[in-house]
Amino acid sequence: MPSNQASAGHLLRLIRTGQATTRGELQTATGLSRSTIGQRLDQLFGAGWLRHTAGGASTGGRPSARLEFDAAHAVVIAVDLETRHARAGVLDLDGRLLAEHTGPLEIAEGPEPVLDRVAGWFPALLDEAGADASRVCGIGLSVPGPVDWATGLIVQPPIMPGWDGHPVPATMAEAYARHVGAAGAPIPVLVDNDANLMAFAEQRRHYPDCSAFVLVKISTGIGAGVVVDGEPYRGIDGGAGDIGHIRLHDASDALCMCGSYGCLAAVASGRAIAARLAAAGIPTASGSDVRAHLTAGVPDAVRLAREAGQRIGEVLVTVVTVLNPGVLVLAGDLAGTPFLTGVRELLYQRAMPRTTAHLDVVTSRLGDLAGLAGAAAMVVEHLYAPDRADARLAALAAR
Ligand SMILES: [Zn+2]
Repeated sequence: MPSNQASAGHLLRLIRTGQATTRGELQTATGLSRSTIGQRLDQLFGAGWLRHTAGGASTGGRPSARLEFDAAHAVVIAVDLETRHARAGVLDLDGRLLAEHTGPLEIAEGPEPVLDRVAGWFPALLDEAGADASRVCGIGLSVPGPVDWATGLIVQPPIMPGWDGHPVPATMAEAYARHVGAAGAPIPVLVDNDANLMAFAEQRRHYPDCSAFVLVKISTGIGAGVVVDGEPYRGIDGGAGDIGHIRLHDASDALCMCGSYGCLAAVASGRAIAARLAAAGIPTASGSDVRAHLTAGVPDAVRLAREAGQRIGEVLVTVVTVLNPGVLVLAGDLAGTPFLTGVRELLYQRAMPRTTAHLDVVTSRLGDLAGLAGAAAMVVEHLYAPDRADARLAALAAR
């Protein structure tokens, strides 16, 4: 077995995934000697990353004691940016929400003022969560636009004017340092597209055994996130799932935020439905107003949402034919019964029976918290992945 497959970081992964949770099981899984396993576990305990499971502590360090990741040894700050508001939260490493705040903002003001505003919420959130700055291991940011995953740069976002190519991780880290105050290296910041992160969170939490999973976010815009074998599938340039700008053949007069005509988002997003309701004399300024009308059961809103669901369904026929997913989740501000009905009608009518025979089409179970949960999970998976974990342990040991 290559040595890098049996480092402390790799043992941590075996423990976190439940593949091996005692010293004996770790020995069997890795082929390492009992003493080597003991040394590596000492590193992990020394960093505060491991604990014995409840009840297991009484047996001390005896071989039968079960080990688990200590999800309370650090916290993550997660930020979910929308076009007109943002949500920020402090979560433990298992994704448990410890404190949360939602406030208005205009994403069109651009990255510097928006990220500074959000970072201004962090000190009170950390207080409420009972966590001081030394326990923050990273920040995860969910944005309503395409992201180049490797660099965290936003790439040609249709509904985020002023953000194209901006180094968001560096700006977020600087804003964090200004408001929370942190010495040493900049705080790690990871950025991804909102639909990707919502899909990641929903799949992990509620459909862990689903190997092909799709989530469609319906809000101001429309986007999809894909999770294959438990990993987000982003494509070559982070563009996978950006279905909102697929051109419909019969909507050539509908102008989209991206500047093109006839995009799915131009006829079926919250923004598009708001414009139609307003034209029909029902005061509606935004996707949030559409949501309020749907909650109140306003008949025109319900009808338009169901029709929009059918338009989205037209595009999803291709998506499910390519991916053959087991679960398709509708999420975002507007994902409710009318959209679900419209999507189901179109999908089951048009898609080949073989691709929908075992497909569940459902609404989100995480709801408004999916973005925060996904952003936090992204940070934890990154920081505690074997190689990264080993590098961090080495840095701790060198202090
Ligand atoms: Zn478009």
